[in-house]
Amino acid sequence: MKRESLGIVNTQYYNPSHDLILEGGERLKNITIAYETYGKLNKEKSNAIMVCHALSGDAHAAGWHEGDRKPGWWDIIIGPGKALDTNKYFIICSNVLGGCKGTTGPSSLNPETGKPYGLDFPIITIKDMVNVQKMLVDHLDIKQLFAVIGGSMGGMQVLQWCISYPDTVRMAIPIATSAYSSPQQIAFNEVGRRAIISDPKWNNGEYYSLEFPDEGLALARMIAHITYLSNESMYEKFGRRLQDKDEYSFDFSTDFQVESYLHYQGSSFTKRFDANTYLYITKAIDYFDLTENGSLADAFKNIKTKFLIISVDSDWLYPPSQNKEILMALSTNDVDVSYIEIKSNYGHDTFLIEGGQLNYIIGNFFSDTLVRDVMSHDMTWIRKDTSIEDAAQLMIAEKITHIPVVSDNDKLIGIVTAWDISKTVALNLKNLEDIMTRDVITAWPDDSIEISAQKMRKYNISSLPVVDDTGRVIGIITTDHISTLMAGSY
Ligand code: SAM
Repeated sequence: MKRESLGIVNTQYYNPSHDLILEGGERLKNITIAYETYGKLNKEKSNAIMVCHALSGDAHAAGWHEGDRKPGWWDIIIGPGKALDTNKYFIICSNVLGGCKGTTGPSSLNPETGKPYGLDFPIITIKDMVNVQKMLVDHLDIKQLFAVIGGSMGGMQVLQWCISYPDTVRMAIPIATSAYSSPQQIAFNEVGRRAIISDPKWNNGEYYSLEFPDEGLALARMIAHITYLSNESMYEKFGRRLQDKDEYSFDFSTDFQVESYLHYQGSSFTKRFDANTYLYITKAIDYFDLTENGSLADAFKNIKTKFLIISVDSDWLYPPSQNKEILMALSTNDVDVSYIEIKSNYGHDTFLIEGGQLNYIIGNFFSDTLVRDVMSHDMTWIRKDTSIEDAAQLMIAEKITHIPVVSDNDKLIGIVTAWDISKTVALNLKNLEDIMTRDVITAWPDDSIEISAQKMRKYNISSLPVVDDTGRVIGIITTDHISTLMAGSY
């Protein structure tokens, strides 16, 4: 299918009416969450994908803001016909707590003082960021996310989602990430923070009405940027080529292209990012550690999500070994998990660049969607001695048209629909047993959604009870669950 652009998109804002209690115990009042959504939420609200951004990302993941020269940061995989296909899925991306792109952070006004928080902003964690995203998901009235996906710090949020809200995430795709920050990662973050703090203009975080600590933030970004690339990609991009000269200058001005590139990266970063946010977010990354008593397997014991872990062979910041640790810990808990290592020279930044491989890998993962991945677990059922009036009232109250009928030992014995209830009036029937259909067409949890769609088409029915191998009803799948996920083909 042709990959297209989303066109113009806009950032939206949500102000929860309740306070946020942070992991560190502090309370944040009047928070704002900046977010963007792409695609349409289906009727069952079963097609929502939460995209989590990395350290310097924001809510603008795809499409174009009016007048911009670049699309959103993950436009390569979000849009019509792309892996995060907006013809099928409803994509949500919000700026993290502590950020500087619309969600409350250290540069926001502190309601207590009317001035920017600066260092009065409390220390936040990845868990807090995820709790804020959950507030947004609740606000959008979505009970379960079809998937949560993100790279780097975004991958940390993906893992945290699955631990904090195991019933809310059907599928998870952490990319180039880790379940805890290594000493080397903490070390790089600390050097970046010191660069900011050593800038006299940083002024203990109170610079908002003064001069911006651009030297410090630029230096922090330069250091970090080196960790995002690989030596091979630097050779390819710059080699030892000189910048605008043919000979060494024999002084400390910029000689090499790589120096010039880093200076450019550093200074352009200061035009779009807040120095205090950099301090707070890198601290949240450093504190991130999902292990319980040293065991990652213990941390994942309640996970119900199906996983795809993606790593990058040339990533030395979040190397494949750290991603494989997540794989091992999930496998120990019998979680349905796949692992794939992208081959690329781009280093850690690969997850933002390698559109071809990402679209292929993620697209395939989603196209393997099974009935169990999308069915409703909290479905309504009745026993055969239920009165027709009660069944009808249940349909109205729950806004449903199909109700499975189960035996005393919870086995499926029939199905009754609004259409069947209309027969009671037409034919003057009194008992549920007279109107229910006994020969029920069902789905298995491990059926592909294509198989279920075929059955629904063949028998012209819009809802299949999902049964396990003992005949117990464990869910229900409807055309609304799958029609958008199979966009165009249903
Ligand atoms: N358009 C309807 C729908 O949305 O399912 C189907 C119309 S069909 C004439 C209605 C009959 O199909 C009813 O008698 C109902 O009990 C039966 N039915 C609905 N779902 C069923 C299922 N999963 N297996 C077998 N029969 C089913």
